[in-house]
Amino acid sequence: MVHAPRYFSFSRFLKEQYPGKVYKIPLDAGFTCPNRDGAKAFGGCTYCDNRSFSPNTRGPRKSVREQVQAGMEFYRRRGAERFIVYFQAFTNTYAAPDELRRIYDEAFVSDAVIGMAVGTRPDCVPDGVLDLLAEYAERCDLWIEYGIQSSHDASHAATNRAHTFGDYVDAMARTRRRVPTARICTHIIHGLPGETPEMMRTTADRLAEIGTDGIKIHHLYVTRHTAMEHQHARGEIPVLGLEEYVGLACDTLERRPERVVVQRLMGELDGELVIAPRWGRTKAQVLAAIDAELARRDTWQGKRRGAPCPVAVPAGVR
Ligand code: SF4
Repeated sequence: MVHAPRYFSFSRFLKEQYPGKVYKIPLDAGFTCPNRDGAKAFGGCTYCDNRSFSPNTRGPRKSVREQVQAGMEFYRRRGAERFIVYFQAFTNTYAAPDELRRIYDEAFVSDAVIGMAVGTRPDCVPDGVLDLLAEYAERCDLWIEYGIQSSHDASHAATNRAHTFGDYVDAMARTRRRVPTARICTHIIHGLPGETPEMMRTTADRLAEIGTDGIKIHHLYVTRHTAMEHQHARGEIPVLGLEEYVGLACDTLERRPERVVVQRLMGELDGELVIAPRWGRTKAQVLAAIDAELARRDTWQGKRRGAPCPVAVPAGVR
């Protein structure tokens, strides 16, 4: 039997939003991060090896224009017609507004670029930067992506994130005020050191209350060349099993308002840098396990918030 998806995926959002295929092009614009250079802290988040989540940070960096052109060429072979340029690597608002404008403008290589996504930290969006982003929200579809990973400051401290949940609450309020047409996506990680399942569900509830437009969820994975690699080797970092993560992903989806776009549901699974967990599953298998668990529970995105079931089930069957 073919089921309708039980959550509002990014691919479904793109199909609803735009005619033709739209792809996101990840970019490394050469930013650093205040959590690495000492402005907030040194060393970065304990799990962060930027090479593990941004393909463009390996090898010599091309200009932003070259990266966009290469991305367009690559995705056009898959049928892409238009593009969202995604400033992904490190903290992409960490510069003065004039410098940011120069960098962002370089990505608009043609009319085929119809959107921009900017990944950043919630403590790195002063009002001047938000006012600049408001200008881009006028000319394209703008996503601002805030990495917070948890709503618990103890977890921020345990992973050296060097910001608080209060920074996120403040950033959300100022972003809504100064960039009202931007969409906001929030990144969280399940399985941070010291977090119980109840704490992870609390984070899901808090985000629903504050109101994010999109969410990226993934499990904690330990990679090489990180502080966490050493903690893990000392037995200090337990990681989630597949079943545990699938359950937590479903718990989180149930708590999402129904129109929050689910941009990601898992992290790296088996890249050469990943030490743990090694579930021995493909991305498609993990997504299928989440779908199956949602069906087994007879639940869906937003159920706990009163959203109707998106799955058409013949009368009398459910
Ligand atoms: S804020 Fe992001 S880029 Fe900076 S250290 Fe943490 S994970 Fe890495």
